[in-house]
Amino acid sequence: MYTLRCFALAALALAFARGAGAQSASGLDLKAMDTSVSPCQNFYQYACGAWRRNNPIPADQSRWSRFNELAERNLAIERGILEKAGDSQIGNFYAACMDEPAIERQGVEPIAPLLSHIGALASKTELAAEMVRLQQAGVRALFNFYVRPDDKKSDTEIANLDQGGLGLPDRDYYLKTDARSVELRRQYSAHIQAMFALLSKAQGESGADPEAAARAVMDVETALAKVSMDRVSRRDPDKTYHKMTVAQLAQLTPDFDWKLYIATVGIPPVESLNVAAPDFVKGLGAIVSSTSLAGLKTYLRWHVLNSSAAVLPRAFEEESFNFNEHILRGTREMPPRWKRCVRATDRALGEALGQEFVRETFNGSSKEKALQLVGEIESEMRNDIGAASWMTPATREQALAKLRQVANKIGYPDKWRDYSSVKVVRGDYFGDSLRAREFELHRNFQKIGKPVDKSEWGMTPPTVNAYYSPSMNNINFPAGILQPPFYNAQAADAVNYGGIGVVIGHELTHGFDDEGRKFDGEGNLRDWWTAADAKAFETRADCIAKEYGGFSPAPGVNLNGRLTLGENAADNGGMHLAYMALMDSLARHVLPKQDGFTPQQQFFLGFAQIWCENATEQSARVSAATNPHSPGEFRAIGVVRNMPEFREAFACKSGDAMVAADPCRVW
Ligand SMILES: [Zn+2]
Repeated sequence: MYTLRCFALAALALAFARGAGAQSASGLDLKAMDTSVSPCQNFYQYACGAWRRNNPIPADQSRWSRFNELAERNLAIERGILEKAGDSQIGNFYAACMDEPAIERQGVEPIAPLLSHIGALASKTELAAEMVRLQQAGVRALFNFYVRPDDKKSDTEIANLDQGGLGLPDRDYYLKTDARSVELRRQYSAHIQAMFALLSKAQGESGADPEAAARAVMDVETALAKVSMDRVSRRDPDKTYHKMTVAQLAQLTPDFDWKLYIATVGIPPVESLNVAAPDFVKGLGAIVSSTSLAGLKTYLRWHVLNSSAAVLPRAFEEESFNFNEHILRGTREMPPRWKRCVRATDRALGEALGQEFVRETFNGSSKEKALQLVGEIESEMRNDIGAASWMTPATREQALAKLRQVANKIGYPDKWRDYSSVKVVRGDYFGDSLRAREFELHRNFQKIGKPVDKSEWGMTPPTVNAYYSPSMNNINFPAGILQPPFYNAQAADAVNYGGIGVVIGHELTHGFDDEGRKFDGEGNLRDWWTAADAKAFETRADCIAKEYGGFSPAPGVNLNGRLTLGENAADNGGMHLAYMALMDSLARHVLPKQDGFTPQQQFFLGFAQIWCENATEQSARVSAATNPHSPGEFRAIGVVRNMPEFREAFACKSGDAMVAADPCRVW
C-alpha cells in the first residue's frame, strides 16, 4: 500500500541467465540493434529496434521486456523448486493451488459465511464491526488500513487510515467523460454483473437483479472516487501526513464507529494514528450516510467476490481475467495454472520460496561486486553534491549528511521470515491463502509498539527490481537484479556501469528527488532546505516534468510529467552518477573499444538495452494513468537527450532529435 521508490513497474522475478545464448565481446546484445537508423535520431530504435521486431508480446502477457525475459526463466526455476518441495510448507501450498478439482469441489462454499454475514446486517451501526471481519478475511473495501513507519518519527510504527475501496485502477477511471472511459465503465459494470451471475448460479439461487447490483456498486465506487486524492497529490508526503487522535478521527465521521474499529481490528491499543486522506474519510462518512443499507451490502458482497476471484473455481478466475487483464490491459490468454501458482506462492510465502531460490542460484561474488559499485556511485554523488553550485553551503551540508547515512542492503535478508505458524493443508487452497494473508496482516499490525526493523525487506529475493525507502533511508538490491543483463561478470565494465551502475545511481538519487528530498538522513519528513534552494530545485525539476509530459505512449495520451517526475529525476541523476564512475574507472585503466564501440558508447547502449520492450496499447494507457515509471522507450531517450556526454559519444549535432535544445539537469 505504501509505495517503495523502485526501479521498475512490477516485481518481476529473475532468471538464472548466466551464459544464456552466444555473447558479444562487450556483452551488448548486437542482435537487438537496428543500425539502419541513426543513434542521434532515435537511440531507442538504434539500441532495441531488432529486439522489438523479434520479440512480440506473448499471449499471456500485456508487456514484454528484458525484465520479463528474466522473469519467465525464473518462474521455471521456482517451479522446479516447488515441484520437488514435497511435503514442505511451500510444496503443499503450491500443490493445493494446482489441485483444481478440489477447488471446483469447494465451489463458493469458503466465501458463503462472509456473504451471509453481510446479508444479515440489520443496520449501519454494525458496519464498523463488519469492516473488521472483512479486513481480517483479506477483503479490502471502503478504505485501506495498515501499519508503517511514522513519517515524522521514523523509528516508530504507526497505524494509517487511507483511501481505497475502488475496483478500477484509479479514481480517474470513474470521473473521465471521454468515450473510451465511458465504454470501460460499461464493461466494468458488465463484469460486476457477470460475477454476481456466477455466484447465483453456484449457489443455485436466482439472486438479485445483477444490473441493479452493478449500479449500486458503481454508485458507491464513483462517490469514493470523487473524494479520493489524485496520484500526483499523493506523491507529496506533506499532503498524506495528518496525525490525529482516535477521538479526533471519530469527529470526522460521527456515523462510523472508528473507536470500535481501531479497538477490535487487531492492532495493539493506540491513542493516535495517521489519517493519510482526511477529506476522503469525511467523504466516506457522507457516502455511508447517504447510501441505503442494501446498497452498502451489495458493494461489500462485490468486494468479497472481487478479492476472492483468484482462489475460487475457474469460471470466476476467467471472468476476473477477462476484465482485469484482457479488456483493461490487452492480455490475450490467461497464463497457465503453474505460473499463477508459482506467483501465488511467492506472494504468500515469499521468503520461504526465496530462501530456496537463493540457495539454488545466487552467486555470492555478485554481492561483492555490487558493494564495490555502490561505494563508487556514492562517492560520485558526494562529488556531485559538493559541486552543486545552485545550492547554498547550508543545504549542501545537510544533503551530504543525508548521503552519509544511506544504508545498503544487497541480495537477501540476514534473517528469514518465520512462517512456521501458518497452517498449510493440501486440498484447501482457499484456506491456505486466507491463513497466509492473516499471518501477514497480523505481522504488520503487531509492529505497533516495536522499533522499526530496518533489516526487513520490501521485496522477495528473486525479484528483478530495486528500491529506496525514504523512511529508512536505505537502498535495497534483491539477488534477482544482480544478474545479466544488469550485471554480467563476462561483460565489459562500461556495459555494467550502464546496467547495475545506473540502477544503483537511480535508487540513490531517489533520496534526493522531489519526494525523497523532503526526508532527512534519519528518514524523517523534515524541511532541511532553505527557501531559495528549494525554489532552485523545483525550477530544475520543472524542466524534467515538462520534458516527459511531452512524450506520448499511446494515441491521444501523454505521460503525466508530475506523476513520473521522481522516477525520471532518478533516471537522469542515476545515469549521470554511473557515467562519472565510468570516467573515473577509465582514468585508472584504459578500456578497449569492443564490437566497434567505444566504452562511452557501450555505456549508453548497455543502458538503453535494459529498456527494450513491447507493450499492448491498453497496458500503455493503464500505465500512463497509474504508473510513476515512464515506459522503457522514454526512460531511454528522455535521459540521453539531456546528456552532452551522449552527444559527444555518438558525435550528434544540435538539432538532432536526441539532442535537447535546453537539456534538463536536477542532479
Ligand atoms: Zn525508482
